[in-house]
Amino acid sequence: MKLQLTIYKLYTKLEDYYGKTNWWPAEGIFEIIVGAVLTQNTNWLNVEKALNNLKNNCMLDYAKILHEKEDLVKQMIRPAGFYNQKYSTLIRVCRFINEEFNGNFELLKRMDTAELRDKLLNIKGIGKETADSILLYCGYHPVFVIDAYTKRIVSRLGISAEDNYDKLQYIFENELPADVYLYAEYHGLIVKHAKTFCRKKPVCKECFLAYICEYKAEEKVG
Ligand code: SF4
Repeated sequence: MKLQLTIYKLYTKLEDYYGKTNWWPAEGIFEIIVGAVLTQNTNWLNVEKALNNLKNNCMLDYAKILHEKEDLVKQMIRPAGFYNQKYSTLIRVCRFINEEFNGNFELLKRMDTAELRDKLLNIKGIGKETADSILLYCGYHPVFVIDAYTKRIVSRLGISAEDNYDKLQYIFENELPADVYLYAEYHGLIVKHAKTFCRKKPVCKECFLAYICEYKAEEKVG
């Protein structure tokens, strides 16, 4: 009999195989926010280069970014690509942190989830994935982050072919307990699996989920 994977079963299988991911990789809240903005349309390696540039120049601080020369900040974040656009978004986010929280990141945790999400989504350049990453990893709000990796993996495994962000998020949140740690780790595990086996060109022959995967069963790959 064919085993039917569910959202929760997938989590347990990924966790059994990879262990703890401790995602999001960052030393502080502002670093997570910057990473969430810079990771749009690029891979994490490029984000790391940009974050290291900011770190090495003691610029991982919203007030410093607000007051530093535009060209210098752009030069630092350049490895993350679309640096003109990302610079503008970063400045808008820094202004938001300054005006809304006066730099007190603790307030991110206290604000109502829906209210904070609306405010974040009102910032030009902040989409749902970025807003939800900030909500979950900075404010510890139980919102499940959906990204291209999530869509790819659940669709290949035959769990859900849903492509719409809100609908897929609902499917995850409806099946899982509203647990910040679980959501944070699950997203990290998805990132890990998408990078290790379930890449654009998947390495199915070596994947520990191959025995249960629809994509593999349909022999879309060798
Ligand atoms: S078997 Fe292939 S398509 Fe399925 S989850 Fe593994 S890598 Fe992805």
